[in-house]
Amino acid sequence: MNVMVTGGAGYIGSHAVQRLLADGHDVVVVDNLFRGHAEAIELLRTRAKGGSRLSFEKRDISRTDDIEAVLRERRIETIMHFAAWTYVGESVQNPMEYYANNTAGSLSLIRACERSWSGGHGGVKRFVFSSTAATYGEPPADRVPIREDCPQLPINPYGASKLMVERMLADMVSAATRAGREFGSACLRYFNVAGSDRTGLIGEDHDPETHLIPIAIQAAMGKRSEMTIFGADYPTPDGTCVRDYVHVEDLADAHATVMEAMRLGRSVAYNLGIGRGYSVREVISAVERVTGRQIAVKSGARRAGDPPVLYADPSKIADELGWRASYIDLDQIIATAWEWMRKHPEGYRS
Ligand code: UDP
Repeated sequence: MNVMVTGGAGYIGSHAVQRLLADGHDVVVVDNLFRGHAEAIELLRTRAKGGSRLSFEKRDISRTDDIEAVLRERRIETIMHFAAWTYVGESVQNPMEYYANNTAGSLSLIRACERSWSGGHGGVKRFVFSSTAATYGEPPADRVPIREDCPQLPINPYGASKLMVERMLADMVSAATRAGREFGSACLRYFNVAGSDRTGLIGEDHDPETHLIPIAIQAAMGKRSEMTIFGADYPTPDGTCVRDYVHVEDLADAHATVMEAMRLGRSVAYNLGIGRGYSVREVISAVERVTGRQIAVKSGARRAGDPPVLYADPSKIADELGWRASYIDLDQIIATAWEWMRKHPEGYRS
């Protein structure tokens, strides 16, 4: 299949590209390289049998005409849409960037997709969207573990910027179906994505790094003198936030599974998590265990926009498509992140 992967030079997108290539698909990565890494694409090209099945377009999804041209020229049938800004804290500081990049950017991409329908190859039929558990906001305790029918009431602009795209896609599928056009969408609501490719080719490299596991590893490596727990007074067993950490390769596997199984004429949503939560303190202890090093930890203020407990009930995708996370052990997930960071202490610049 001809697949366009927006944000394919980023962390999750690059792992999805790796999986699509392994499955024999032809992949066009569209990325503006604002936070993505051209190095990831170059490395993946080495896996793509001479490189012909992987191409790269340095473009911005907000340029509808550009994207439409790529969709037509490359006869794209499926879009996997990862390109987004993804920091909760930053979204609270700078909400309009999130609505511009995530919501308006996606609108532009969906419009390009709509325009591709008048092309000779029939246009885009499948749209797989990177959504987030942040769309659920702060669910009441009796709605955790979270199912897909939990009310979506985001408490930060990041979650809100993604929820609007879910709605656009659902409306697009309805309109397309009424017009007799074959089109389907899937919104994959990620919980906390972690770990790196087990072969060590690609990995997680954010600048700035804000995520708990890489920060704890950096502290264990001595790249940071200490780390801060953002809030130790939450209504949770040890006072710190609880999250569901799902391995990035499992996520890539879920995308491949959903794409293959997608029924045109439907818009669906699935939670992607392992189905259990770990507290911030538990994650830090696991990083100490895996790295064999002590981490200097201090307690600080809560970070704006953080709900206390988020973990998935992933049974819908298990029941309907047979997808389950293969990494269910936190130490194993962290071990893959540690392996990458040990070998690439400066990320892709190493
Ligand atoms: N966190 C923390 N210290 C850090 C980074 C993160 O205490 O230096 C906490 C954060 O407040 C949240 C959890 O770790 O409760 C996971 O945060 P992360 O940024 O990794 O992912 P998010 O939940 O925002 O998607």
